Amino acid sequence: MSNDKKKLIVISGSSGVGKGTVIKSLLSRNSDIKLSISYTTRLPREGEEEGVNYFFRTKDEFMRAVENDEFLEWAEFSGNCYGTKRKFVEKSLNNGEHVLLEIDTQGALQIKNKMPEAVLLFIAPPSYEELVARLRGRKTETEEAIQKRLNFVEFEKENSKYFDHIIINDTVENAVSQIEKYI
Ligand code: 5GP
Repeated sequence: MSNDKKKLIVISGSSGVGKGTVIKSLLSRNSDIKLSISYTTRLPREGEEEGVNYFFRTKDEFMRAVENDEFLEWAEFSGNCYGTKRKFVEKSLNNGEHVLLEIDTQGALQIKNKMPEAVLLFIAPPSYEELVARLRGRKTETEEAIQKRLNFVEFEKENSKYFDHIIINDTVENAVSQIEKYI
């Protein structure tokens, strides 16, 4: 990206919307964007690695970090805690890198409050029916876990009105191009 001013980019979107694929493509096309790896109390899914997908922590360890004010934002999502380490973000921005946070809408709105210059992007599905089908097709989670996530979809849609831009994920290529336009 040519813009000299380094940016904090926040991407949110409901489970199953294809955020992961869009972000992977965005990062492969823009080597000057650094992804923040979040901390979570959720257990790793099959194939997930410590320090690659998340830093996996116990609830006690996570809450200790909260008490020490180590998180720029954190939120509870579907029964687990997720947070962004303040140090990593500040260091990367100071080093002149764009920083990307892939976090839920509650965390995104906390960021907007603290750092109004952050760009908030919400990835939306082309249709709600398609999103539900994608979420059900994932097969990595129990029916109960899927149901819990579906309950969050409505909540996140509601929060999306506070975002700077809504990106429709019809194709990955389109979604990435739209994101590049806004950052
Ligand atoms: P998953 O369990 O599917 O990996 O993530 C569940 C939700 O937590 C997703 O909406 C994801 O964007 C969000 N999330 C991941 N990391 C963070 C974080 O550091 N902070 C917040 N607030 N949400 C996060």
